[in-house]
Amino acid sequence: MIPMANLAISQPDQHTAMINTLQELMNRGQYIGGDTVAAFEAAVADYLGVPHAISCASGTDALHLGLRALDIGPGDEVITTPFTFFATIEAIHYVGARPVFVDIDPHSFNLDPERVADAIGPATRAILPVHVFGQPVDMAPLRELAQKHRLHIVEDCAQSFGARYQGELTGTLGDVGCFSFFPTKNLGACGDGGLITVHSPALAERLRKLANHGSAERNRHECIGYNSRLDAFQAAVLQVKLPHCDSDNQARQRVARRYHEGLRDLAELQLPNPETGDHIYHQYTLLVPAEARARIQESLAGAGVASAIHYPMPAYRQPAIAQDHQGLELPVAEDVTRRCLSLPMFPTMSNDQVDTVINVLRDVMQRQPTARPVNHS
Ligand SMILES: *Cc1c(COP(=O)(O)O)cnc(C)c1O
Repeated sequence: MIPMANLAISQPDQHTAMINTLQELMNRGQYIGGDTVAAFEAAVADYLGVPHAISCASGTDALHLGLRALDIGPGDEVITTPFTFFATIEAIHYVGARPVFVDIDPHSFNLDPERVADAIGPATRAILPVHVFGQPVDMAPLRELAQKHRLHIVEDCAQSFGARYQGELTGTLGDVGCFSFFPTKNLGACGDGGLITVHSPALAERLRKLANHGSAERNRHECIGYNSRLDAFQAAVLQVKLPHCDSDNQARQRVARRYHEGLRDLAELQLPNPETGDHIYHQYTLLVPAEARARIQESLAGAGVASAIHYPMPAYRQPAIAQDHQGLELPVAEDVTRRCLSLPMFPTMSNDQVDTVINVLRDVMQRQPTARPVNHS
């Protein structure tokens, strides 16, 4: 079976370095906070080139705390994408604000800046772009809009650790950058973890308090905060993996190029555009004919190739919030959710594995009954 991802720590040197640090932490009895977490925060701030990186318990918490630190709450609107993992939307609801969904670009699957402009109203407080599948959002027009209308930008970088937009790393382009270290992400821990990046020292101070029971000094609670911390084991694991993140992302790009070469002549597929060199392929997601998707997935599975649907419906159709968005129908998001298909993608994927996926998919597409009818008249 060729899986969607391979999460085993297979490099012996990484494995040994992690075990040694975990052993040392157990010897010292240090599990939450402390110098291992501080050292990782410093290393990741240095990598990203931001003055402040605050770790927390998950990417979902990073989004929640980021919005809260900006004082976004009831009565406020946050413009975002319907084509994302649902956590993006949950975070907006946690602070009592309302998500306003705008349609996506049919090629990048990211927020369409022109439609964002149309959605800005008196209650809008922030734009929340998601660099979906590791491809950076076109941030320049969003930053211009944010400046003009005095809006905050909160970036959801859960899928884009290490991706650059016009040379700048995602997570440094807005007011708040929110990262996840869930094991499947491009920089993944061996458990949950998250990170918030900010430029403003005042925001950094608020975030540190919010993530730790409203407390900056022992026994003094200045606001109602949360228990949201990165544990030392995860910080140790991430510290070992961080230096390999760029080469892992390059390995993903190599897999994507091979997919592209092997599939580009199939007219019924829409592949990610390889020209945008900034894509770090958290997922390799293409579009197939809607009516053929189930059959394609079945055939891939039958040949031992995993595949997945990210995402099967626009977020506004999820039962948790559908009643708030009745009648909303964003045509590109509707179309993409019916046609998207993600193929196996991980840095250690071999050329043979990539070729197997390509050959199986080619075979399935050629046997497909939906192949365009030939007009003989
Ligand atoms: C994974 C993910 C999150 C949530 O991160 P967790 O660490 O799992 O809480 C948020 N947004 C997007 C786009 C994600 O892919």
